[in-house]
Amino acid sequence: MLDARNVLLTSHARPDGDSLGSQLALAAALRRLGKQVRIINIDPAPALYAFLPDLEIIEIADSATDPCDAVVVLECSSLDRTGVSGLEERMIINIDHHAGNVMYGSLNWFDETACACAEQVSDLIDALGVELTEAMATHLYVAILTDTGSFRHANITARTFEICRRIATAGIDPARIAAEVYTNGSLGHVRLTGMLLDRMQLEYDRRIAVLRLHDTMLAEAECAADDIEGIVNLPLAVRDVRAVVFFKHTGTEVRVSVRSKAAVDVRQVAVSFGGGGHRNAAGFTIEHPTAETTRQVITRIATAIANSEQ
Ligand code: AMP
Ligand code: MN
Repeated sequence: MLDARNVLLTSHARPDGDSLGSQLALAAALRRLGKQVRIINIDPAPALYAFLPDLEIIEIADSATDPCDAVVVLECSSLDRTGVSGLEERMIINIDHHAGNVMYGSLNWFDETACACAEQVSDLIDALGVELTEAMATHLYVAILTDTGSFRHANITARTFEICRRIATAGIDPARIAAEVYTNGSLGHVRLTGMLLDRMQLEYDRRIAVLRLHDTMLAEAECAADDIEGIVNLPLAVRDVRAVVFFKHTGTEVRVSVRSKAAVDVRQVAVSFGGGGHRNAAGFTIEHPTAETTRQVITRIATAIANSEQ
């Protein structure tokens, strides 16, 4: 990484707080070392993240053709998660914390114990000898705050808080950042949340909550398609609920998000449908879904719950 002069950064399609924060912090650090850095993502950031410093440096494209010395792929368990073509033949540095990473890089740094990819980026910035600026600290904090479900997930460790201590020392305001992330949303998001929860179904002895979204509901709630983050977690507030499945129907496909509690492994369910993620947060896409396939998803989640109770 130190030899490369021209570096391209990328991450997964439909970016989240960790992919955006990790890319922006690393870009800022590499620029401090005098490197030429570009970030190319296939999808724009959700409006929620508009407050992130330097967000505008991210270019939106589905291919990367210009020459560069190295491509750093963050937060992707496989290269196709980027959705960006033209990366295959490059010198790729794979930095990720998702179980099941297929080690597609020329260099692979896979750390499943990291609570967010931003933990790895924070260590990398340290190793590069770059001092954290307030902007970089903001990027890293947003990544860790959102990827840990507001400091609630199981992979939080003393290291997480040590990194956050250093981030806080760099001058960020955690309360202001939390306010940007959690209390600056749209009315449409809250309306859609109401509609989804109102129609929520419970399966498997109330242990699985099922949410279904159709495009018509987005229009009715006046909610943007990329403004649904976080809703999938809400049914977990119910004591009996062990897992949530959220079917998002668009056109001829359905994007499926799954969340679970404790030992319920929904990553395995996602993998069985060609997706991936973490034990308690995973996702996949079904092309041309039928009632039978969505029923199969619920059945496999029920099996994951049963397995966790053995
Ligand atoms: P989501 O439900 O989209 O918020 O995704 C939850 C987790 O699963 C995140 O860590 C994603 O990176 C991961 N994930 C979602 N979809 C896929 C997929 N098709 N392949 C691999 N990982 C995925
Ligand atoms: Mn992550």
